[in-house]
Amino acid sequence: MNQVSQKSTNKINLLGLTRQQMEDFFESLGEKRFRAHQIMKWVHFFGVDDFEAMTNIGKGLRGKLAEVAEIKGPAVELEHFSNDGTRKWVVDLGQGNKVETVFIPDGKRGTLCVSSQVGCALDCSFCSTGKQGFQRDLSVDEIIGQLWIAQRSFGAPENHGIRNITNIVMMGMGEPLLNFENVVTAMEIMKDDLGYGVAKKRLTLSTSGVVPKMYELYDRIDVALAVSLHAPNDELRDQLVPINKKYPLSALMAACRRYVDQFPDTRRVTMEYVLMDGVNDKYEHAEQLVALLQDVPSKINLIPFNPFPSSGYKRPNGMRIKAFQDRLIKAGFVTTIRTTRGDDIDAACGQLVGQVQDRTRRAAQWQAKIAEKAANSQKGKQIPVQQVSVHKQS
Ligand code: SF4
Repeated sequence: MNQVSQKSTNKINLLGLTRQQMEDFFESLGEKRFRAHQIMKWVHFFGVDDFEAMTNIGKGLRGKLAEVAEIKGPAVELEHFSNDGTRKWVVDLGQGNKVETVFIPDGKRGTLCVSSQVGCALDCSFCSTGKQGFQRDLSVDEIIGQLWIAQRSFGAPENHGIRNITNIVMMGMGEPLLNFENVVTAMEIMKDDLGYGVAKKRLTLSTSGVVPKMYELYDRIDVALAVSLHAPNDELRDQLVPINKKYPLSALMAACRRYVDQFPDTRRVTMEYVLMDGVNDKYEHAEQLVALLQDVPSKINLIPFNPFPSSGYKRPNGMRIKAFQDRLIKAGFVTTIRTTRGDDIDAACGQLVGQVQDRTRRAAQWQAKIAEKAANSQKGKQIPVQQVSVHKQS
């Protein structure tokens, strides 16, 4: 059963229902199942939240719906516009919890980066979201609500139904596979023609490597897969992505190979690799990466680190980034360098912070570490980078 929104009333929020669930809902009201299709178009295509505006629905049914159902997106606290066209929404989920959603236009493509949890329990050492601790999973209507808000801000799709949002990445705040049921259900709505009609190759789930859930995912839904890799050996990945201690690279790579084997078309896994100066950007790391991925059909997305206060990491210079890319390309990997977008509104990758009523105490520990580091540096002491990161609490 899907988790429901924390702030919902007793009414059913139609944003969170798949086509099947919507049809069942109308049947339970004694209505024809096709009514579900009409309503989904009003909700997801036209962004309507008032049943009275649904002109092809009879007055009686509109009244009945208003009594038992609602179309309620999460409250938007702020909408930021970047100079480069990137937009960011700060979404208020109540009780002091906020998540962020980012839209990145690129020619005819528009990618929406969607959050799945308030904070994150996994505490990757270079990630500002992880430093905020963890509060809770998002419900289906809160995940779809981010899409609904963004779609509405562009107005109903013009030009014969061409939508502004062509691509979606489950890559915002949180580890999507740790909110499995709600994320899978939300992605069904994203793929549905009566939902957001996003093609499977344009809908990407990004995981830090929750290996058992990766296998479950393949059996439930066909979407593109990205892995937050960030290190080419277990010793370094244990430090940067602590879940690696539980599911090391051998298990992660096996899960990636299975993904490629399971689907009959030409699949590749996108390997996300945040480059941090002097940490994981050396020539030997590129060599190890080539060896690690040699039998995993993949493309590599290099992401120059986006600094945040007291992270302890730095972005490598352009020459180092290019040299790393060149080594991977020479080995035959399609390797891109992600252009930083939305820098001026803190919407770049790894900069999403929202607001988390942390129940892991990690945010407080992180603040204490920062204070300790500041005090020590005043005394002229140097603290190595790995001592600055806070480790997973749960
Ligand atoms: S990188 Fe992803 S999995 Fe790791 S702490 Fe940040 S949000 Fe969580």
